[in-house]
Amino acid sequence: MTAQAVANAAYVAAALLFIMSLAGLSKHETGRTGIRYGIAGMAIAMSATVWLTLSGEWTDSTLLGLGLLVAALAIGAVIGLWRAKVVAMTGMPELIALFHSFVGLTAVLVGWNGALHAKELTPTLAAVHSAEVFIGVFIGAITFTGSIVAYLKLSAKMSSKPLILPGRNLLNLSALVVFVVLTVAYVITPELGLLIAVTALALALGWHLVASIGGGDMPVVVSMLNSYSGWAAAATGFLLSNDLLIVTGALVGSSGAYLSYIMCRAMNRSFISVIFGGYGIEAPSGSDEEVGEHTEIEASSVAELLSNAKSVVITPGYGMAVAQAQYPVAELAKKLREKGIEVRFGIHPVAGRLPGHMNVLLAEAKVPYDIVLEMDEINEDLAGTNVVLVIGANDTVNPAATENPSSPIAGMPVLKVWEAENVIVFKRSMASGYAGVANPLFYKSNAKMLFGDAKDKVNDILKAL
Ligand code: NDP
Repeated sequence: MTAQAVANAAYVAAALLFIMSLAGLSKHETGRTGIRYGIAGMAIAMSATVWLTLSGEWTDSTLLGLGLLVAALAIGAVIGLWRAKVVAMTGMPELIALFHSFVGLTAVLVGWNGALHAKELTPTLAAVHSAEVFIGVFIGAITFTGSIVAYLKLSAKMSSKPLILPGRNLLNLSALVVFVVLTVAYVITPELGLLIAVTALALALGWHLVASIGGGDMPVVVSMLNSYSGWAAAATGFLLSNDLLIVTGALVGSSGAYLSYIMCRAMNRSFISVIFGGYGIEAPSGSDEEVGEHTEIEASSVAELLSNAKSVVITPGYGMAVAQAQYPVAELAKKLREKGIEVRFGIHPVAGRLPGHMNVLLAEAKVPYDIVLEMDEINEDLAGTNVVLVIGANDTVNPAATENPSSPIAGMPVLKVWEAENVIVFKRSMASGYAGVANPLFYKSNAKMLFGDAKDKVNDILKAL
């Protein structure tokens, strides 16, 4: 059997493991197994690639290639391990956005490499090759700058407000038309100037597309960039004639696109408008001024309220992750259930800073899966609930989304916590949430604010109970 045939067999095994990994990741119970399949698939894929490099005839360049490969693997593994170990769960989306930018940059570099080291090809194959170079560089450069803007917005190094340039939809559309024209020109005569032009165009377009999207829609943008990075990898696979890269890129591209679609549906956003940099979205006119008087409550009074309740719903958000309050929250749920009180969790699809953020934290604290419900499963029951504990959530429980059509988060489905008999909001101040929008919930007559770090406050309630 030739070395290429062995590598191809390994690539098929790796591709199957990646598919099994995605299937595993679709459920809590099988998530860990899914991750293991993914690791195994990646180990096989990388070993096969190294093996393929070594299997040819040994020359000086094989040695150099091997040296570079080992050095790249070692440096990448050390940086990857270090970052993954030190990153806080709340910093995950930024890290993921940064990873996507690397995939984009790689696609650009591979594209440029393919253009500068063009092989002897028949005219038809040369045309196909030129188109591959152009498409790879275009998708890669959009992914690169788009992911950097997403990183800057998520880490609050750049304002999360949408950039509204005059005629921005026309700008995006013109960029696409110019891309098509440049591609045709490059296929006819592959000149370096055209490649430079498309790289600059795509870098600017990627920046503009993501800068035009407001903070509230960032979850969708992160998963959309995930999809773009997949397509960039697939384009690289075509250029390098590597089947596994094509398959893996397509898996990432299509699953990312599907996740973006599901999230858009959950947030009542138009998929097309998010893909095309906020196409059709008007500049928000919502203000973040205060809209009334709020009432405060002490932990001991919350404990009393809970003791007398029959049903309690806990809706966690980003603040629970910041405070690392999931352990005392799990203990509180356990204690209340032991008293015969019905306790359930209501999870908004974009609570926290990455899809499934709250589910991961609650699973970590061993909260039983059957009492953790999706927003749609619990929303209708909130009106009949005695006490809702809003732990570090803000945008995801904001009634302005349903009551104020000019709010930047108008139309986004939210947990209707204000319909419950009593709502206790755990947070440190009256500050707004990620989307920077005032929350009228805090001023409703049935809502009380419990100020302080969520973990300390839940511990205080536990003591009082
Ligand atoms: P928000 O970000 O709207 O609000 C979190 C609240 O937690 C803040 O108002 C803050 O108030 C409070 N908080 C912070 N630290 C603490 C602490 N230590 N103790 C107590 N409270 C604390 O959270 P949500 O989860 O409701 O909404 C998520 C937002 O993030 C949405 O806008 C969503 O679109 C966006 N987003 C979601 C992503 C995802 O995939 N899930 C990805 C990117 C963005 P204070 O400072 O007063 O304490």
